[in-house]
Amino acid sequence: MSLNTTVTVPSPSNAYDQLYAGIDYSSLNWYEQQWVAWYTWIGDPVIATGLLSFIMHEVVYFGRSIPWIIIDAIPYFRKWKLQPAKVPSPEEQWKCVKQVLFGHFTVELPTIWLFHPLAETVGMKTYHVPFPHWQTMVWQIAFFMFFEDLYHFVAHRALHIPLLYKHIHKIHHKYSAPFGLAAEYAHPAEVMILGFGTLAGSLVLALFTEVHFVTFFIWVILKLFQAVDSHSGYDFPWSLQRILPFWSGADHHDFHHMAFTDNFATSFRWWDRIFGTDVKFQAYQRRKKSSSQAELIAIEREAIAEGLKAEAKVINSKSNIKVE
Ligand SMILES: [Zn+2]
Ligand SMILES: [Zn+2]
Repeated sequence: MSLNTTVTVPSPSNAYDQLYAGIDYSSLNWYEQQWVAWYTWIGDPVIATGLLSFIMHEVVYFGRSIPWIIIDAIPYFRKWKLQPAKVPSPEEQWKCVKQVLFGHFTVELPTIWLFHPLAETVGMKTYHVPFPHWQTMVWQIAFFMFFEDLYHFVAHRALHIPLLYKHIHKIHHKYSAPFGLAAEYAHPAEVMILGFGTLAGSLVLALFTEVHFVTFFIWVILKLFQAVDSHSGYDFPWSLQRILPFWSGADHHDFHHMAFTDNFATSFRWWDRIFGTDVKFQAYQRRKKSSSQAELIAIEREAIAEGLKAEAKVINSKSNIKVE
């Protein structure tokens, strides 16, 4: 091989000319200019999208978990803890971080890298500027959210089929009292199966109308907030579900982990209501409302014991079909 072989490493100005020829930089807003700067700096759109997505995922996931770690360390907040007797220890949280990080580098990183080629195949805009109008972003994010929630409801119920539960979903149910960091504590197959719901809505929509990667990017940030917060284990008077009654929030998902039944959806309460998979949850809520502090602990213990029994039944089940 000759030492003079030319290797094309796009220089910033080169990349700008290739990606943004004819674009009037001064007509762009500040966010669009940063977008252009990032894609120009990296030079290769596939690497730029992959790297940006991975960094965002790590920063938002762990960044959003930090307030919950602090809250767990302050006894004052215990009055809003859904399972006050079960506060995760720092060792438990550190063990979870290591497992989650391992999954991020081995499973999520390659998947994130595949997103750009997939996005291009369906015609999604990626490095392009200008961004879509904010109203377009709002309705598209609402669609991604609706799509993911419905998909998750179906896929999560399927993951409770004994065969899939035993081999895949059991890992995520390790914590009967979840905490923020445990949101993505799951088997690699589960990360792929449920992560598909987050990606697929945007890819499907891009087949019918113009979708920009930045809209998907904002949606993933919101989805990470939702996932971490729903595992936080805290129900504050100012939590979103207190303002929007159809928002699922932490009490909804915490019950799923504690009682090993009901509440299969992610963002909204309506599918569990329509299909009757929140009957036990509602009964639990009613009992909690009319109980004293001392009774609450007994009710909680009872629900955990019933959950453990229900889980053991699924694990020891010979049938592979029945969903608990
Ligand atoms: Zn589950
Ligand atoms: Zn969970």
